[in-house]
Amino acid sequence: SRVQTLEINELITEVVDLLSQKSRYANVEVTVDLDPDLPPIQASATEMQQVLMNILHNAVDAMEKSGGAIHIHSRLEEGRIRIAIADTGPGIPASNLGRLFDPFFTTKPVGKGTGLGLSICYGIIHKMGGRIDVESQVGKGTTFHIELPLSDSAA
Ligand code: ADP
Ligand code: MG
Repeated sequence: SRVQTLEINELITEVVDLLSQKSRYANVEVTVDLDPDLPPIQASATEMQQVLMNILHNAVDAMEKSGGAIHIHSRLEEGRIRIAIADTGPGIPASNLGRLFDPFFTTKPVGKGTGLGLSICYGIIHKMGGRIDVESQVGKGTTFHIELPLSDSAA
Protein backbone atom coordinates (compact mmCIF):
# COMPACT_ATOMS: atom_id res chain seq x y z
CA SER A 1 0.00 0.00 0.00
CA ARG A 2 2.78 2.44 -0.98
CA VAL A 3 1.60 6.02 -1.38
CA GLN A 4 2.35 7.47 -4.80
CA THR A 5 1.19 10.15 -7.22
CA LEU A 6 -1.97 8.91 -8.88
CA GLU A 7 -4.10 10.05 -11.75
CA ILE A 8 -7.59 8.99 -10.70
CA ASN A 9 -8.92 9.03 -14.25
CA GLU A 10 -6.17 6.67 -15.40
CA LEU A 11 -7.00 4.33 -12.57
CA ILE A 12 -10.70 4.39 -13.47
CA THR A 13 -9.89 3.57 -17.09
CA GLU A 14 -7.64 0.70 -16.00
CA VAL A 15 -10.25 -0.81 -13.73
CA VAL A 16 -12.99 -0.53 -16.38
CA ASP A 17 -10.63 -2.36 -18.71
CA LEU A 18 -9.92 -5.08 -16.15
CA LEU A 19 -13.65 -5.62 -15.76
CA SER A 20 -14.53 -5.49 -19.45
CA GLN A 21 -14.87 -9.27 -19.87
CA LYS A 22 -17.05 -9.69 -16.82
CA SER A 23 -19.27 -6.75 -17.78
CA ARG A 24 -19.61 -7.82 -21.41
CA TYR A 25 -20.58 -11.31 -20.28
CA ALA A 26 -23.26 -9.84 -18.01
CA ASN A 27 -24.56 -7.46 -20.71
CA VAL A 28 -23.54 -4.45 -18.69
CA GLU A 29 -22.45 -1.38 -20.58
CA VAL A 30 -19.88 0.78 -18.82
CA THR A 31 -19.50 4.45 -19.75
CA VAL A 32 -17.32 7.15 -18.23
CA ASP A 33 -17.37 10.91 -18.04
CA LEU A 34 -14.04 12.00 -16.59
CA ASP A 35 -12.99 15.51 -15.68
CA PRO A 36 -9.81 16.19 -17.69
CA ASP A 37 -8.65 18.75 -15.13
CA LEU A 38 -8.41 16.52 -12.07
CA PRO A 39 -5.18 17.10 -10.19
CA PRO A 40 -3.18 14.00 -9.26
CA ILE A 41 -3.62 12.71 -5.71
CA GLN A 42 -1.26 11.04 -3.26
CA ALA A 43 -2.59 7.58 -2.53
CA SER A 44 -1.89 3.89 -2.84
CA ALA A 45 -2.70 2.64 -6.35
CA THR A 46 -3.53 -0.85 -5.09
CA GLU A 47 -5.91 0.49 -2.49
CA MET A 48 -7.69 2.87 -4.86
CA GLN A 49 -7.93 0.09 -7.41
CA GLN A 50 -9.43 -2.18 -4.76
CA VAL A 51 -12.05 0.43 -3.92
CA LEU A 52 -13.13 0.87 -7.53
CA MET A 53 -12.99 -2.86 -8.25
CA ASN A 54 -15.15 -3.76 -5.24
CA ILE A 55 -17.82 -1.23 -6.19
CA LEU A 56 -17.83 -2.19 -9.87
CA HIS A 57 -17.87 -5.92 -9.12
CA ASN A 58 -20.91 -5.40 -6.91
CA ALA A 59 -22.66 -3.39 -9.61
CA VAL A 60 -22.05 -6.04 -12.27
CA ASP A 61 -23.08 -8.79 -9.83
CA ALA A 62 -26.33 -6.96 -9.17
CA MET A 63 -27.13 -6.79 -12.90
CA GLU A 64 -25.84 -10.24 -13.86
CA LYS A 65 -29.30 -11.51 -14.76
CA SER A 66 -30.88 -8.34 -16.14
CA GLY A 67 -28.01 -6.60 -17.85
CA GLY A 68 -27.85 -2.83 -17.51
CA ALA A 69 -25.51 0.10 -17.42
CA ILE A 70 -22.84 1.59 -15.21
CA HIS A 71 -21.81 5.20 -15.48
CA ILE A 72 -18.66 6.52 -13.81
CA HIS A 73 -18.24 10.20 -13.38
CA SER A 74 -15.32 12.21 -11.94
CA ARG A 75 -15.34 15.89 -11.06
CA LEU A 76 -13.31 18.49 -9.25
CA GLU A 77 -15.78 20.31 -7.03
CA GLU A 78 -15.22 22.67 -4.14
CA GLY A 79 -11.59 21.64 -3.87
CA ARG A 80 -12.38 17.95 -3.64
CA ILE A 81 -12.41 15.12 -6.12
CA ARG A 82 -15.81 13.51 -6.47
CA ILE A 83 -16.36 10.17 -8.13
CA ALA A 84 -19.83 8.77 -8.73
CA ILE A 85 -20.48 5.20 -9.82
CA ALA A 86 -24.09 4.74 -10.86
CA ASP A 87 -25.80 1.54 -11.95
CA THR A 88 -29.23 0.71 -13.31
CA GLY A 89 -29.54 -2.45 -11.21
CA PRO A 90 -32.24 -3.61 -8.79
CA GLY A 91 -31.33 -1.12 -6.08
CA ILE A 92 -30.93 -1.72 -2.35
CA PRO A 93 -33.84 -1.83 0.08
CA ALA A 94 -33.79 1.02 2.60
CA SER A 95 -33.60 -1.51 5.43
CA ASN A 96 -30.19 -2.68 4.15
CA LEU A 97 -28.65 0.70 3.41
CA GLY A 98 -27.52 1.32 6.99
CA ARG A 99 -25.62 -1.96 7.13
CA LEU A 100 -24.02 -1.85 3.69
CA PHE A 101 -20.54 -0.81 4.88
CA ASP A 102 -20.55 -3.19 7.86
CA PRO A 103 -18.07 -6.05 7.70
CA PHE A 104 -19.74 -9.35 6.77
CA PHE A 105 -22.99 -7.77 5.58
CA THR A 106 -23.90 -9.61 2.40
CA THR A 107 -27.05 -10.69 0.58
CA LYS A 108 -25.13 -13.09 -1.62
CA PRO A 109 -25.36 -16.84 -1.17
CA VAL A 110 -22.80 -18.55 1.06
CA GLY A 111 -19.54 -18.95 -0.87
CA LYS A 112 -20.38 -16.08 -3.24
CA GLY A 113 -19.93 -13.07 -1.02
CA THR A 114 -17.86 -12.37 2.07
CA GLY A 115 -19.52 -9.07 2.85
CA LEU A 116 -16.09 -7.49 3.22
CA GLY A 117 -15.85 -5.52 -0.04
CA LEU A 118 -17.61 -2.35 1.01
CA SER A 119 -16.20 -2.32 4.54
CA ILE A 120 -12.73 -2.42 2.98
CA CYS A 121 -13.70 0.47 0.68
CA TYR A 122 -14.95 2.44 3.67
CA GLY A 123 -11.70 1.86 5.60
CA ILE A 124 -9.47 2.87 2.69
CA ILE A 125 -11.40 6.03 1.81
CA HIS A 126 -11.69 7.22 5.41
CA LYS A 127 -7.98 6.58 6.03
CA MET A 128 -7.34 9.00 3.12
CA GLY A 129 -9.55 11.63 4.74
CA GLY A 130 -12.30 11.04 2.21
CA ARG A 131 -15.93 9.99 2.35
CA ILE A 132 -17.98 7.28 0.72
CA ASP A 133 -21.73 6.93 0.70
CA VAL A 134 -24.52 5.34 -1.23
CA GLU A 135 -27.86 6.39 -2.60
CA SER A 136 -30.25 3.81 -3.96
CA GLN A 137 -33.78 3.34 -5.19
CA VAL A 138 -35.32 -0.10 -5.45
CA GLY A 139 -36.15 -0.83 -9.07
CA LYS A 140 -34.06 2.07 -10.34
CA GLY A 141 -30.47 1.62 -9.34
CA THR A 142 -27.66 2.50 -7.02
CA THR A 143 -25.04 5.24 -6.95
CA PHE A 144 -21.89 5.22 -4.86
CA HIS A 145 -20.33 8.61 -4.16
CA ILE A 146 -16.70 8.98 -3.23
CA GLU A 147 -15.17 12.26 -2.17
CA LEU A 148 -11.40 12.65 -1.84
CA PRO A 149 -9.46 15.56 -0.42
CA LEU A 150 -6.76 17.04 -2.66
CA SER A 151 -3.18 16.41 -1.67
CA ASP A 152 -1.48 19.42 -0.05
CA SER A 153 0.67 20.09 -3.10
CA ALA A 154 -2.40 20.30 -5.35
CA ALA A 155 -4.62 22.31 -3.00
P1 ADP B 1 -20.33 -8.88 -0.97
O1 ADP B 1 -20.15 -8.38 -2.36
O2 ADP B 1 -19.34 -9.93 -0.61
O3 ADP B 1 -21.74 -9.30 -0.68
P2 ADP B 1 -19.96 -6.12 -0.22
O4 ADP B 1 -19.50 -5.49 1.05
O5 ADP B 1 -19.14 -5.85 -1.43
O6 ADP B 1 -20.01 -7.68 0.05
O7 ADP B 1 -21.46 -5.73 -0.52
C1 ADP B 1 -22.44 -5.93 0.48
C2 ADP B 1 -23.83 -6.04 -0.10
O8 ADP B 1 -24.23 -4.78 -0.62
C3 ADP B 1 -24.01 -6.99 -1.26
O9 ADP B 1 -24.18 -8.32 -0.83
C4 ADP B 1 -25.28 -6.44 -1.91
O10 ADP B 1 -26.43 -6.89 -1.20
C5 ADP B 1 -25.19 -4.96 -1.64
N1 ADP B 1 -24.75 -4.18 -2.82
C6 ADP B 1 -23.54 -3.60 -2.99
N2 ADP B 1 -23.47 -2.94 -4.15
C7 ADP B 1 -24.68 -3.10 -4.75
C8 ADP B 1 -25.26 -2.63 -5.98
N3 ADP B 1 -24.55 -1.87 -6.85
N4 ADP B 1 -26.54 -2.98 -6.25
C9 ADP B 1 -27.26 -3.73 -5.39
N5 ADP B 1 -26.77 -4.19 -4.21
C10 ADP B 1 -25.51 -3.88 -3.89
MG1 MG C 1 -18.59 -7.15 -3.04
